[in-house]
Amino acid sequence: MAVEDPYRWIESVAQSAGHSLCLEDDLGRRMSYAEVHQSVGRYGAVLLDLGVHVGDRVALLVEKSLEAVLVYLACLRVGAAVVPLNTAYTAAELRHFISDSQPQVLIVDPAKTEAAVEIAAANGCPTVETLGARGNGSIANRVEMQSVGSPVISIAADTLAALLYTSGTTGRSKGAMITRGNLVANAQCLASSWQMTREDLLVHVLPLFHVHGLFLSLNTMFAVGAAVRIHRIFDPRLTIESLSNGSVFMGVPTHYTRLLACPELTPEAVSGVRLFISGSAPLLSETHREFEVRTRKVILERYGMTETLVNTSNPYTGVRKPGSVGLPLPGVELRITDQRTDGDGPNVGMIEIRGPNVCAGYWRAPDQTAADRTVDGYFRSGDLGFIDSDGYLHISGRAKDLVITGGYNVYPKEIELELDRLDQISESAVFGVPHRDFGEAVTAAVILKPSAAMHEATVIELMRNRLARYKVPKRVIVVDELPKNTMGKIQKNKLRERFAHLYLDTLAKPNGIR
Ligand code: AMP
Repeated sequence: MAVEDPYRWIESVAQSAGHSLCLEDDLGRRMSYAEVHQSVGRYGAVLLDLGVHVGDRVALLVEKSLEAVLVYLACLRVGAAVVPLNTAYTAAELRHFISDSQPQVLIVDPAKTEAAVEIAAANGCPTVETLGARGNGSIANRVEMQSVGSPVISIAADTLAALLYTSGTTGRSKGAMITRGNLVANAQCLASSWQMTREDLLVHVLPLFHVHGLFLSLNTMFAVGAAVRIHRIFDPRLTIESLSNGSVFMGVPTHYTRLLACPELTPEAVSGVRLFISGSAPLLSETHREFEVRTRKVILERYGMTETLVNTSNPYTGVRKPGSVGLPLPGVELRITDQRTDGDGPNVGMIEIRGPNVCAGYWRAPDQTAADRTVDGYFRSGDLGFIDSDGYLHISGRAKDLVITGGYNVYPKEIELELDRLDQISESAVFGVPHRDFGEAVTAAVILKPSAAMHEATVIELMRNRLARYKVPKRVIVVDELPKNTMGKIQKNKLRERFAHLYLDTLAKPNGIR
């Protein structure tokens, strides 16, 4: 089904197979495609009443709910750009997003009304509406009063569909301009690569404020007329129950480790699931293998980012390699530039991407947009990686997390893989900390397996047998947990800050005398 506009997906299924299930939630509510189409029309009419025109922004700071999905679809229907925001943002962060995106409407959780009204008024946003986790709120009241749906209009593919603020672990986060064309290209490509059909039901546990939960999950299913079951929060046991009659699951690595921690995860419990997909952060090979042993299902890992949606995927049929993010998707061009090798290792370099999935740039930041593009139109991803002899991509880490020690490049992933192979370590993060002699010292924070003990000097000694000397961590520190954001990404900036003191003595002593 080649429909060239993201809202036409809903419309066309509503017209051809209107009774088929589109959305349901963990409160037991179910909506067919015809019902979703009709309801979205009423939400669309409310947006038009509130003065939303094609290209205007509608910011969403709401809890996850079925209604939040309807609002997203209404934005697509009227041609507005959705600006999904994480409800965990502080007032200061919210102020930045509102003043930067200048939305025509800000829809907030009722509990946030007071702060939102003040921030909206001070930043030129004319309207604040509310939407609660159970679909209550002022927007729902307005929808009740609408009897006629907004028209479904033709909207150009280069129209802004969303502004998605990047995680911004360094510096201010920027708004990636995602067009309708980006959404269509990526969803159609994923739906066909992952063999989605109208028979599928996705168990949806991801947040809606990130590309993973909003676009990759929803659009890929809507593009083929499949169904989505919205879980408002991720509860591992409820998820396993839900998987008993679901066919597809998309998660971040943390979801998989939490599922593995439940004894209820058995081959029988998930026998009907034909596809488990992981992305947004590196999936440990160990988790990949453990999941296969426990469930007899092989996780399919893929790689994407806010600015480019999905770039690569392990194959649906073919080898899904643990530790690799797979092959470039059809239509996506990927290359590795500035490659370096330390002799025995792979040729690691910067991953650059070109294709219909790459966003139009950063909102009102032409300099930043230009800085991240090459002259021949590739997007500099900021990720480092290499391609193996089978053409599979492996990610070695973010460029900004590269450790340069004594003039040598150390790719944290390589050291993390070695640490994770040790029996007593369950997870590790390697980062650079300022050091007088070396510039940066390779440093590791590790989580031990339950009831395991670790002797730091022994681990360092073991690493000496496995890694070139300059790559061996100078310190290996046991921590209770690694700082992660909601998408399960380790925040290395926080580790660098927390352990900035480690080699202070080397910094303090003059002339290298120690
Ligand atoms: P975000 O824009 O928040 O989606 O973050 C994108 C970044 O997450 C990428 O640039 C990668 O550094 C990382 N990432 C996404 N998927 C993977 C994956 N499968 N393996 C390793 N890193 C990943």
